[in-house]
Amino acid sequence: MTAVESRDAVADGSGSSARSHVLGLDIGGTKLAAGVVDETGQVRSFAVESTRAEEGPERGVERLLELGRSAVRGAGLAPEQIQAVGIGSGGPLDAARGLLTAPPHLPGWRDVPIVARAEAAFGLPVVLDNDATAAAAGEHRYGAGAGTSHMVYLTISTGVGGGIVIDGRLYRGATGNGGELGHVTVDCAGRPCRGCGRQGCLEAYVSGTSIAERAREAGMGDVTASDVAAAARSGDTVAREVWDATTDALACGLTSIVNLFEPQLVVLGGGVVSGTGEQLLGPVRERVRAEAMMPAGAAAQIVESALGRHVGVVGAAAIAYERAASVDVVAHG
Ligand SMILES: [Zn+2]
Repeated sequence: MTAVESRDAVADGSGSSARSHVLGLDIGGTKLAAGVVDETGQVRSFAVESTRAEEGPERGVERLLELGRSAVRGAGLAPEQIQAVGIGSGGPLDAARGLLTAPPHLPGWRDVPIVARAEAAFGLPVVLDNDATAAAAGEHRYGAGAGTSHMVYLTISTGVGGGIVIDGRLYRGATGNGGELGHVTVDCAGRPCRGCGRQGCLEAYVSGTSIAERAREAGMGDVTASDVAAAARSGDTVAREVWDATTDALACGLTSIVNLFEPQLVVLGGGVVSGTGEQLLGPVRERVRAEAMMPAGAAAQIVESALGRHVGVVGAAAIAYERAASVDVVAHG
């Protein structure tokens, strides 16, 4: 049974039923999430459950669609008040054909026609995008990056993903799989990267998986990234070394990213960031400011995600609204 959180449309006085709404779906390696989001970015309902990717794509897609249906029911809206569906997933994916091609966070999910399945289930237009690109869209449209023109988003959780906004627009690359900021190299002869098979990627040092792995190698036993952060806060020498190596690598990668894009704002999200906050951001902010080329280093503010645990569904909704707006431009232009 899935618990669906709902906001009371009457009690909050927002008159939200008159607004347009979209359903946002987020396919993570550990969690599936669904939420109905209005055009101001308010989350009307939110539902989440374990992905259980090992049960395979058929069952996983069914459970995702069912989660979406419960979010629609939880929002207390008539089905015709939902205009579109946005789906965010880890890549690689083929957005134009609506396929999850071979996402490493979903072993065995090859060429899954997620868009066609969702279109059939909801009878609505469906868009698919990389989850970190979608999260960047959400932060840019409704969150920490609202009002900025040049923004970079980095999500640090099991892996590390990125999204880029240039001149107020999302940058997606030639096939929609660009912006992989987690695979910026911080040591070209460094640790193996599970996400891409190369060596020394940012992800191979700062992901939650890597923090835990480096802590194990340093003799801390079977610990999580959040255990390492807590032990570092309480003065444990080994934990502090592991943590310092984490902030060093993040500052190194971010400095390259800041030099490359000269963003006004860098937004950091994901479980590792929300669990540690300034313990991570403080030293990173200081080093990027000291090491990045000027004036880029001084221009870039580094802040935490404003959308928190809703970033996946709000991001997926943001790409659905973005697509609807671009279709309007074509139709009316
Ligand atoms: Zn990599």
